[in-house]
Amino acid sequence: ERAQRSQEPTGPGALFDGTAVPLLANLGSAAGAADALAAGAEGVGLFRTEFLFLDSQSAPTVREQQEQYTKLLTAFAGKKVVARVLDAGADKPLAFLNDAPEENPALGLRGIRSLRHSETILREQLTALAAADAATDADLWVMAPMVATVEEARYFTSLAKELGIRTAGVMVEVPATALLADRVLAVTDFASIGTNDLTQYTMAADRLLGTVANFQDPWHPAVLRLVAEVGAAGLAAGKPVGICGEAAADPLLAVVLVGLGATTLSMSPSALADVRASLARFTLDDARALAEVALAADGAAEAKAAAKSCAAERT
Ligand code: PEP
Ligand code: MG
Repeated sequence: ERAQRSQEPTGPGALFDGTAVPLLANLGSAAGAADALAAGAEGVGLFRTEFLFLDSQSAPTVREQQEQYTKLLTAFAGKKVVARVLDAGADKPLAFLNDAPEENPALGLRGIRSLRHSETILREQLTALAAADAATDADLWVMAPMVATVEEARYFTSLAKELGIRTAGVMVEVPATALLADRVLAVTDFASIGTNDLTQYTMAADRLLGTVANFQDPWHPAVLRLVAEVGAAGLAAGKPVGICGEAAADPLLAVVLVGLGATTLSMSPSALADVRASLARFTLDDARALAEVALAADGAAEAKAAAKSCAAERT
């Protein structure tokens, strides 16, 4: 009966009981904006800005960046756009940022660590983002990748605000940040969980290495427990907690993530329709029940099976 409930194919994301769960798009450049909007994206939950920096001998100028950001924000006028500042490390060496080789790039100078090391690049990017925000009608939020400490969260948030960003937050990709989510959220405006890296660092398995690919499964209850920690902290602080990793694109896991406290889900635009349809089948109570059985499982496969059978019982 619930599956049959008539539903706008590109309408806003919501649970069966009407609880809104805004569905946002992950974009790698302004070029994907039209497709995302056509698929019903209510905004952008992750704008990856690496495209502006890669394959380049020098950092793009403030003006060049501002032009690109303005393009995207104009396409999403009246909507929320969460941009991530440059996420680069030794796996993507940039002549002007981080060209020292490292044995374990995933554990090295990447994300906010490398930007802080070359703060001019971070300052210029934030300046360009703030200028684009001021010139358009979108609601720009800006977040830092790979934040590992409360101190980094405080540093990024205060620098972003100093340079004119209105809403600044951090990605939760490192277990340390999830475990201290209450203290992290006390010094920043929002959190967005990057489940790809959070899974990699929780399971200690390189996400790019085929031989350990079986560990890269966000259904793992250890990963879910960390998500629950962040969700609870967000609820307590009254601050938004989004999900922007691949996990949000799995229609059943998306429901579990909402049950764990996620307030928005961001994914590649092609995944929006299936996730929207899945959310519409469950109440918030259902989502919490699914989350509970998944958390209680021993492993990823068991968590998924438990959530599946709980879903079948409740719908
Ligand atoms: C993530 O780590 O989940 C994420 C969204 O960022 P990226 O995949 O770009 O590292
Ligand atoms: Mg990441």
